[in-house]
Amino acid sequence: MSDPVLVVGAGPVGLTLAGELARRGVPVRIVDALAAPTTESRAIVVHARSLEMLEQVGVLDDLIASGIKTTGLEMHASGRTIARVDLDIVDSAHPYAVVTAQTETERVLTENLAKHGVEVERGLSLLGLEQDAEGVRATLRTADGGEESIAASWLVGADGARSEVRRQVGTALEGSFHGERFLMGDVHAAHDFDPRSMYTFFSAHDGPLMVFPMKGDRMRLIAQVTTGSTDEASQEWLQRVADERASGRIRIHDSLWLTCFEIHHAQVPQYRYGRVFLAGDAAHVHSPAGGQGMNTGMQDAFNLGWKLAAAYRGTASETLIDSYHAERHPVAARVIEFSTRLTHLSTLANPVAQKLRNALLHTATGIGPARQALADETEETTLSYHGSPAVVGSVAHAKIRSGDHLPDVAGTQLRRVLAAETGHVLLTLGPLPAAAELPGVRQILLADTDAAVAGYDTVVADPQRRAATRFGLTSGRIMVRPDGYVGAIAAGDDDAPITAYRELTTR
Ligand SMILES: Cc1cc2nc3c(=O)[nH]c(=O)nc-3n(C[C@H](O)[C@H](O)[C@H](O)COP(=O)(O)OP(=O)(O)OC[C@H]3O[C@@H](n4cnc5c(N)ncnc54)[C@H](O)[C@@H]3O)c2cc1C
Repeated sequence: MSDPVLVVGAGPVGLTLAGELARRGVPVRIVDALAAPTTESRAIVVHARSLEMLEQVGVLDDLIASGIKTTGLEMHASGRTIARVDLDIVDSAHPYAVVTAQTETERVLTENLAKHGVEVERGLSLLGLEQDAEGVRATLRTADGGEESIAASWLVGADGARSEVRRQVGTALEGSFHGERFLMGDVHAAHDFDPRSMYTFFSAHDGPLMVFPMKGDRMRLIAQVTTGSTDEASQEWLQRVADERASGRIRIHDSLWLTCFEIHHAQVPQYRYGRVFLAGDAAHVHSPAGGQGMNTGMQDAFNLGWKLAAAYRGTASETLIDSYHAERHPVAARVIEFSTRLTHLSTLANPVAQKLRNALLHTATGIGPARQALADETEETTLSYHGSPAVVGSVAHAKIRSGDHLPDVAGTQLRRVLAAETGHVLLTLGPLPAAAELPGVRQILLADTDAAVAGYDTVVADPQRRAATRFGLTSGRIMVRPDGYVGAIAAGDDDAPITAYRELTTR
């Protein structure tokens, strides 16, 4: 058997990745420099696309139980609501965000990992690594000051914004380093906010204040403050900022965590270096505007997990392994652009520009398509891998494309059946025979009843042909990847795209 995969860093990204490997029976070790899990709650919003992902991981119910469901975004300026967007308009089986402390997300992911028999090895800090065509050798400092050497088949650097793995492979974050400074607090407070919304208060004189009601009377406040200010984070300062920007609607009782931090917007040029990958904050950093840092990182891990499992088993083509960079690098680039735009929009100094922004936001969010676009961008539900080297085929009249996330078909059991899957699934619609010779691929037929049909592993009842309507495909096949995205789509009995996908991604 090959050496295990080594995951460096047990933040949300490393935990997701190790869980995905363990779920597929791949030997994995996960190490972290910290002796105990962090108590810093940091990212608190888990968006719809991540919730879809966590349903597949098998931890969605636990995550929901740890926080509250949020279905609205509100923007305020000059003492009035200038825009409101309901997130339940997004096309998702989970059309909401969950607000929960990052410590809770990490707890749920750690428990999931333990269920698969893997424990985080703490007090181990990566110092160096070497690799050749066969594998990687990592040198780690142990808690007692000694050194340990670990042989790994592959190594993933999920070791955060100051990544040592990144330094070891000889790359660096590239981007804008002028930084934005934030004052942040997790507090207990009395307030009159509806807990089912997230709020942004634009200020005429300062940066924005973002307000996130959490479970009970807990609340997350994030305020952009003057870059270069050297003040220490304090409850008094946060209260003053809240009074100025949120019209005295928040009365802080006590603080659980207060911090000031500076954010840059940057990304590494490459996500793969031979047998070493970078994921999460090790690969990209950006402003918390939009709350997408952790979400993007966890989705990096979800994208890489099944590909790395196939690489470990020797069944993945180089194209498939390289597609991690091809698919995920543009996503972080887009998040950086989106969060930078949001930050600029929030910090306009010119009063005329501020008035124009407020009027534009008010008008635009009153228009269906603009409102929809903002909700989709926030919840990441239109994220796709169109044009990826690891997706194939298109059908002109279909409503889905290769590279799309497979949409839910309400009124059928399809999502429930797919949720537990760890491998590829070939969906067949219409009266077609089972595709021949697809080892390791589960064959699902959508039919009038769920009576067994020879050649199919599962038959899902869809008497009203909802799937055909939803996908715009009356007869054909859809190859669903283990991450829920469409790898290939083929109309009628033309299986060429399915075959081409297999040839491209396997070896
Ligand atoms: C103050 C603050 C506030 C934030 N607020 C938000 C927010 O509101 N919304 C949002 O989306 N994001 C926010 N973020 C960002 C979010 O927390 C990160 O995107 C997320 O934690 C990234 O996860 P990760 O697993 O990539 O890295 P991390 O969570 O940083 O985890 C990296 C892990 O690697 C370990 N490690 C580091 N070096 C080594 C080494 N050499 N050897 C072994 N282990 C190592 C660390 O101990 C750590 O446990 C915030 C970040 C900060 C710092």
